[in-house]
Amino acid sequence: MWNPIDALLGLFSLDIGIDLGTANTLVFVRGKGIVINEPSWVAIEKNSKRVLAIGAEAKEMVGRTPAGIVAIRPLRDGVISEFEVTQAMLDYFIKKAHEDLFVPFPRPRVVVGIPSGVTEVEKRAVYDAALAAGARAAFLIEEPMAAAIGAGLPIMESRGSMVVDIGGGTTEVAVFSLGGIVVSRSIRVAGDEMDEDIIQYVRQKYNLLIGERMAERVKIAIGSAYPLPEEKTMLLRGRNVVTGLPDAVEVSSIEIREALSGSVGIILDVIKETLDSTPPELIADLMETGICLAGGGSLLKGLAQRVSEETNMPAWVAPDSMTCVARGAGKVLEELDILQQVLTTPDRRGSSASPV
Ligand code: ADP
Ligand code: MG
Repeated sequence: MWNPIDALLGLFSLDIGIDLGTANTLVFVRGKGIVINEPSWVAIEKNSKRVLAIGAEAKEMVGRTPAGIVAIRPLRDGVISEFEVTQAMLDYFIKKAHEDLFVPFPRPRVVVGIPSGVTEVEKRAVYDAALAAGARAAFLIEEPMAAAIGAGLPIMESRGSMVVDIGGGTTEVAVFSLGGIVVSRSIRVAGDEMDEDIIQYVRQKYNLLIGERMAERVKIAIGSAYPLPEEKTMLLRGRNVVTGLPDAVEVSSIEIREALSGSVGIILDVIKETLDSTPPELIADLMETGICLAGGGSLLKGLAQRVSEETNMPAWVAPDSMTCVARGAGKVLEELDILQQVLTTPDRRGSSASPV
């Protein structure tokens, strides 16, 4: 129903796409680009459950929190383990985007990218949270779909296309045709698991205990899935588990590649398995269009080359691969009439994608 107040506020309202990632939350505002890119972390006071900090500020506290405060990632495994916290996070990021752009009353249209494994109840929670944060209309989209749109794949065509979105907590693989997902897989092996692999490896080989953030730094600096043109080394600092004292060890990119081989192997397997379940006509298309890699994990050196070699298909990393989902979600609002069908809505409350 037409509402004069909404119409007036609509003049100042934003169209925003949100990537509620397991590792990072991004907010894309139409006409402005990515305005927020912060870790999906929330710091909470244990007893009162009061939210103390969200985003970058909360991540800073990780590993340094005094007793009584916990820093958590509510979406870590690609499922929403903490409803209220996820809602607080969404609310915070929507309001912050408006504040940063000096828009006084948030009445945006919002598309939120959600992991494809989430339940109806979880969808509902995100949807309600967006409305509670002031959204005039809220829509949900599965992340691989948003990633594909953000990467510019021709998902509405009959020609098949494929995305592998490697995030922090989950890797999602999907094959698209005619605006729908034909085959998809989601596994809980992605960037975090790679960090864990590195921690285990240096612990076993060198008795050196390193933290998650150090492991991530090593992965980004010298991690790879394919031999590098020039192999590198890096100094790791941590604690020797035998002596209990601070220690440092130099590791090579060859060793780190070996450490990562388990996780990388699992990701390659899930890609092959998805291809295995893909109808032959679409496989023929994919041999031309190739496999598009998205998400932060796709930036692992040599991954595209490795995927290509193992699948016998072209593989490429989407330009600006970490922002694909947020940009894709935002793009849906620009072409809502065409892209309506790619959205998903929680079950109760009527047909797909109708704004409330
Ligand atoms: P999510 O969508 O789950 O929030 P992102 O797409 O933001 O995840 O990706 C985060 C993951 O990408 C983290 O595990 C991070 O360590 C990893 N990552 C970021 N940059 C690189 C890089 N250059 N090489 C390897 N991994 C990377
Ligand atoms: Mg993601």
